[in-house]
Amino acid sequence: MNGALLHFYHRLPAPMRSAAASLRGLYLRTWRYGPETERLVEEALEREHWDSRRWENWQEEQLAFVLDRAATRVPYYREQWAARRRNGDRTSWQYLENWPVLEKETLRENPTAFVADDCNVRVMFHEHTSGTTGKPLDLWWSRNTVRAWYALFEARCRRWYGISREDRWAILGGQLITSIADSQPPFWVWNAPLNQLYMSSYHLALDFIPHYLDALKKYRIKYIFAYTSSLHALAQEILRLQRKDLQLTVAITNAEPLFDYQRQTISEAFQCPVRETYGMAEIVTSASECGDGRLHLWPEVGWVETFENGRPVEDCTIGDLICTGLLNSDMPLIRYRVGDCGALPAERKLCSCRRTLPTLESIEGRTDDVLYTSDGRRVGRLDPVFKAHMPIKEAQIIQEALDRLRVRYVPAPGYAPEVQRSIVERLQARMGAVQVILEQVDKIPRTTNGKFQAVINMMIRSPKSWV
Ligand SMILES: [Zn+2]
Repeated sequence: MNGALLHFYHRLPAPMRSAAASLRGLYLRTWRYGPETERLVEEALEREHWDSRRWENWQEEQLAFVLDRAATRVPYYREQWAARRRNGDRTSWQYLENWPVLEKETLRENPTAFVADDCNVRVMFHEHTSGTTGKPLDLWWSRNTVRAWYALFEARCRRWYGISREDRWAILGGQLITSIADSQPPFWVWNAPLNQLYMSSYHLALDFIPHYLDALKKYRIKYIFAYTSSLHALAQEILRLQRKDLQLTVAITNAEPLFDYQRQTISEAFQCPVRETYGMAEIVTSASECGDGRLHLWPEVGWVETFENGRPVEDCTIGDLICTGLLNSDMPLIRYRVGDCGALPAERKLCSCRRTLPTLESIEGRTDDVLYTSDGRRVGRLDPVFKAHMPIKEAQIIQEALDRLRVRYVPAPGYAPEVQRSIVERLQARMGAVQVILEQVDKIPRTTNGKFQAVINMMIRSPKSWV
């Protein structure tokens, strides 16, 4: 929505805002679901039991098709390969190892150059994201791609957990569905065609949270899909208020890593399992957690490699996730750096859920925001620093120099100075003899699209401060 339209929408009375959201919901439902949806869902569920040989053949075939289409029908890649030929490069585009890494900035600069020349962007679904750093990204999907994606979502983000798109759900996300200045509920809109209560993740102030909880009850919400930090904020209040009336079937996290202490609190508050998902608007890879707690990749969506210093790394080593999209062959992204790091497992063991989908060993969060020890090790998840019942609402770790960390924290009721000592000890146990500066704050700012960042590395963001 452009600025003027958003301003107009924010001034509408609440029922009109829900009507506007429902109109949008109807449009989205028509794009996402059709008569083929149920068949696509069944097929996706059936593929989860293919043997590894069948998966390999299938992925290789898809990859060959996408590489061929990218090199011959996509202007950006076609020009790249023509230039390489002119320079005497005779390597074949049929092999993925001959393709360079594609950076987000290149895609952002000229997005239409990535759309195949037999497609018309005017009749495609246009996805415009604000991006984590506030830099927008334009993406186009054909109707078939949209439907294939939402069938996978239905299978692996809903059916796995015993729910379906017919169930009433709540979502806490980055859309500004009510003005940021509003201090009166509702901070949500009911989107009837999608059975969805869209709740603002920008209004989760302590005074407003009881209104959110009442809305979950009033709208008879069965499951919730939300930024991890938003869910955690709701869960902490439920426990503090000792509310037992908000039992859900499942709580699904997205967009931010899920730490153990958050999982424990959310599960206790909503009296249900918590499941983690991983994905991005560019749909070059996706994963969701099964009932046995493993993050399974969706092989239909992308081919995943891990890189360090521009070269593939051994499995089980943390590296940049470099992904080749297999689902959207009309806007193919080859060896795309998604900006997160993670690790693939050393060997393919069958998960106890008996699904043959490959797994991700770990997702460590944004590449820009991992911490470094003074001897140069990358430290991934620092969540064990915070415990489930620690009296803090949220905390952010900022690395200012190799030997200096700043921890911003928002105290919760019951906060005592011993907590500080515990945080410092736990951080030093993992990071060595670093100086830890504790800074008490009222709230921790979100990114432009409302996401919470658990870790910020200032040395990478502004390299001058390396010293
Ligand atoms: Zn599993």
